[in-house]
Amino acid sequence: MRDYTKFYIDGSWVEPGQAKTLDVINPATEAVAGRIALGTAADVDRAAKAARKAFKSFSRTSREERIELLESIVAEYKKRHEDMAKAITEEMGAPVWLAQRAQAAMGAAHLQTAAAVLKSYKFEEPRGTTLLLKEPIGVCGFITPWNWPVNQISCKVAPALATGCTMILKPSEIAPFSAYIFAEILEAAGVPAGVFNLINGDGPTVGAAISSHPEVDMVSFTGSTRAGIEVARNAAPTVKRVHQELGGKSPNIILEDADLNSAVTGGVKAVMLNSGQSCNAPTRMLVPGKKMEDVIAIARAAAEATIVGDPSGNVAMGPVVSETQWTKIQGLIQKGIDEGATLVAGGTGKPEGLDKGYYVKPTVFANVTNEMTIAKEEIFGPVVSILGYDSVEQAVDVGNDTEYGLAAYVSGTDTGKVLDVAKQLRAGQVSLNGANPDLMAPFGGYKMSGNGREWGDHAFGEFLEVKAVLGMPKQAAAE
Ligand code: NAD
Repeated sequence: MRDYTKFYIDGSWVEPGQAKTLDVINPATEAVAGRIALGTAADVDRAAKAARKAFKSFSRTSREERIELLESIVAEYKKRHEDMAKAITEEMGAPVWLAQRAQAAMGAAHLQTAAAVLKSYKFEEPRGTTLLLKEPIGVCGFITPWNWPVNQISCKVAPALATGCTMILKPSEIAPFSAYIFAEILEAAGVPAGVFNLINGDGPTVGAAISSHPEVDMVSFTGSTRAGIEVARNAAPTVKRVHQELGGKSPNIILEDADLNSAVTGGVKAVMLNSGQSCNAPTRMLVPGKKMEDVIAIARAAAEATIVGDPSGNVAMGPVVSETQWTKIQGLIQKGIDEGATLVAGGTGKPEGLDKGYYVKPTVFANVTNEMTIAKEEIFGPVVSILGYDSVEQAVDVGNDTEYGLAAYVSGTDTGKVLDVAKQLRAGQVSLNGANPDLMAPFGGYKMSGNGREWGDHAFGEFLEVKAVLGMPKQAAAE
């Protein structure tokens, strides 16, 4: 049992303002794995004041000092890598291999990337007699989800530290263990008091208090589109910058000349990864209509080969995060059946022999039309929808026919054609032929998938204000 009931404010672990706690459930066992305290607006206020006070000196630290700080955080993180992965498996059910090699590893990778970018980032740019300065925006508020918990925390905290900002983090109340360990890592690495503050709690209380607090200069939110809109609404009266990373319903266009076996298998596997709980999962697979029968056979085999089970064992897929998510996913699978899609693999109910834990069957639907609920709504579960197309133009139109625009995927052997399709897709990131993630590539959405970009050097811009200094002597400005 983890007792994570303190908050980290102004460099100390402190008692929260109220005594209310929340149990954290292990989704593989349905047992209580620990508890956190639920914060209030008063806790946020305390943290905001600490962050404001710390900003004065931290914003004036040198590039070298911040590189050193990031490097010592990476060193501390490495010591806690196993703890981090274990906490992630416990809080959200990722299989051990995924928690270690991807979930926990991404947390360290964003810190390393930020340190590398910082080494050569241009904070000053002379233009004639004008000098452009990029300065830290101030106190940042971070609100994060449960699906890739430490990845989403680190991809905000790392560039914020690199640019000289101070911050308050409210992680997901469903998966808060990894955030607690992350705070311990920052403390051990010697992050100055007040620079990083951790408050646990729910969205409508702590999340809303961060969004609306006058001392918070920008808020960076990752989560559902519904909550992202609430954050922006609450942030509006104080005119703070709002960065949003929201939902997705990403198209995966498989062109006629693609290697069908590898594209379809890869597409199904990518959805099953993390039990379908990735905002950029390629959930709408678009295939040439005349190849539907072959695609169905390949997709069925891929789904049926997905081993589901206890995440501490050697499985491809663990449970989904909570009973609420399990029930929501079941409802959407049933909708797919009711609306007339062909159920190719999986379906409702728990996989055989997995009665305890929030396990979902790896599910594939074919003959889906874009009007069906399973093609429109983000399911956030291991469910693939396969749609047939007659022409590439139609595939692009259907691909873009969604309120989201986070990611898209294209497979084919003719690079010119693949790139031409990629250019027509309205999404922030397009992966060709199952490309691996690139930590330096900007990550973020078009349309209702959000605004702004995280990861790599683009992330720095989210945490910087631009100041123009006019009237510089010519020579100095040119230096
Ligand atoms: P969620 O929106 O329910 O919660 C996310 C965070 O917002 C949590 O910390 C929650 O406490 C907080 N929150 C909830 N209501 C709030 C409010 N009114 N004001 C302020 N904060 C509030 O999302 P979730 O269920 O934790 O995560 C799943 C969602 O996140 C999916 O829609 C997924 O697509 C999205 N997501 C997006 C990205 C991306 O980069 N675009 C990455 C991961 C997840």
